[in-house]
Amino acid sequence: MTTAIGVVITEHIVSGRLEDQQLAGKLLRYPGDSESTDQPETPDELTAIPDGELVEIIAGQIAILTGSEKTPRETQLDAIGVAVPGIVRSGVVEESPNLPQIKGMRLKEKLTKALEGLGIAAPVHVANDADAIAAGVAATRGRLDKITRVWTIGNGIGYGRWPYVEGVWEGGHITVTLDPKEHYCGCGGVGHLEGIMGHRAMRMRFLDLEPEEVFANAKEGDARCREFVDLWHRALAAATASFIHLAGPGRFYFTGCNVGFLELPLLRSHLETMVRMSPLQSFSLEILPQDDETALIGAGVSALRALGG
Ligand SMILES: [Zn+2]
Repeated sequence: MTTAIGVVITEHIVSGRLEDQQLAGKLLRYPGDSESTDQPETPDELTAIPDGELVEIIAGQIAILTGSEKTPRETQLDAIGVAVPGIVRSGVVEESPNLPQIKGMRLKEKLTKALEGLGIAAPVHVANDADAIAAGVAATRGRLDKITRVWTIGNGIGYGRWPYVEGVWEGGHITVTLDPKEHYCGCGGVGHLEGIMGHRAMRMRFLDLEPEEVFANAKEGDARCREFVDLWHRALAAATASFIHLAGPGRFYFTGCNVGFLELPLLRSHLETMVRMSPLQSFSLEILPQDDETALIGAGVSALRALGG
């Protein structure tokens, strides 16, 4: 049996224990559900926490998960997988626009050290959060031998893939338009997918409307909003078409807090105008429900795979 712990850091921190790549027991959350807070968490809650404190919180959760079993029979951990938003290479978070305090952080090293202080010795593997979702989808659907790609649609736009391939894979920053007026991407780049689809970018574009109102108005026939909703879908189709032209057709999944804006038939109709070579037309598109479990399982599975388990 393999035992792993998966940790997902997004707007909150969630961790759980995996036995043979399946969730075993309850998930732990920070900010906690123990404190019976009725208020919805603010998206910026974690950005206010210093990086050292974040590591302590994660280490604390892992300690609870390893010690939670009363019998000392198996506190042996095979791997700890941590999924974070941003560019992750060799355990270092090279860039993380939505969690700026961890930029440049040697997360693998710091967490390993913090865990040692708590008497826990297990290899730590750090993955990008969208890659972790792709791994989780592949694992839970018995598709670990196939290519799985995931778009996460939220404040930022993430692109994840399984199996992991060395690289940057910042799919959200792929250029989808040559219009110089498209400059709303959080990274500052012109013409980026996230500059059209990202939550923050939409708020900058429509200073008078929240993204939810833009999509609602479009449904009611407002021409300006309708035009934008079409652009939003065409941008995602363009980026997806590019990945189909590079790595082939296959399955694409869509998730994230703004996935409710997505209309698959509209996306598909745009995609069909962009992908015309018949061997590439066998792609499929599917919306995934928003949950933490998939990324959590993926973080653990990626860690086990990376460590040869
Ligand atoms: Zn960008």
